[in-house]
Amino acid sequence: MPRVAPVVDRALCLRRHPFSESSLVVHVLTAEHGRVHLLARGAYRPASRYFAVLDLFDELELEWDASPRHELQNLRAGSVRVRRRVIRTDIDRYRAAVSVLELSDIAARHMSHDPRAFALADESLTALELAESPAEETLVRFQLGLLAHLGLEPALARCAACGHKAPAVMQKPEPRAAFSAGAGGRLCKDCATEARAAGRRVGTLPVSVLEDGRLLADSQARISPPLSALRLERVRDFVGRFLDYHLETRPKSHRAFLAAPNRNALASASGELDSA
Ligand SMILES: [Zn+2]
Repeated sequence: MPRVAPVVDRALCLRRHPFSESSLVVHVLTAEHGRVHLLARGAYRPASRYFAVLDLFDELELEWDASPRHELQNLRAGSVRVRRRVIRTDIDRYRAAVSVLELSDIAARHMSHDPRAFALADESLTALELAESPAEETLVRFQLGLLAHLGLEPALARCAACGHKAPAVMQKPEPRAAFSAGAGGRLCKDCATEARAAGRRVGTLPVSVLEDGRLLADSQARISPPLSALRLERVRDFVGRFLDYHLETRPKSHRAFLAAPNRNALASASGELDSA
């Protein structure tokens, strides 16, 4: 028999699938071991050592047999460190929390050991549970935090290409700056021209939306009074699209929100939308 060493770590449940009659396969994000797939035998039996433990959103402590030979690890025991019940009682918090887990899941596929990604997700779930700010604000802050963690934060104030100031390229009906997800964010006029010539898609975004994005990207900033629902929605729209572009996928939890026309688009006479 190969030696297996029991491992204990903090974890967040990312997804669960029923397996045979009374077991579960759970995918978890852990603090120290990245994303782990576990087989929880007899999870539905009250006598099991993790009965009623493997719920979404709670912070768990799990113990499993770390076998390098198996993709699916055997769960030995589990307990709930932080039970989060409020999230389930509010549809906006619930949706934001699902999105936090889904994005963490996608991001964790690229990293085997990533304590920061775990902390970002865990802190965001705590914020959703405590409900100190609007759910959308917590979600956008998480998304911007994740982008920064992955080294993909959008340039919001200066030009992503040359680092110089990137003033608005049009003033009406509101000031708008050049923006390209492919080029890393906001662009000055010259770099926008260059990016277009290089075949990149370059659009524009309202400067006010980029400013709100900066505010939310600063994890220390307390935003009081909170941004209005409309402002939050506009920031969430561009951050969501930027994230999808860089993750090269549209997470399920983004689909309904981003199926709407780009909220920051400039409608031209032809009705064609100018989007970043
Ligand atoms: Zn530039």
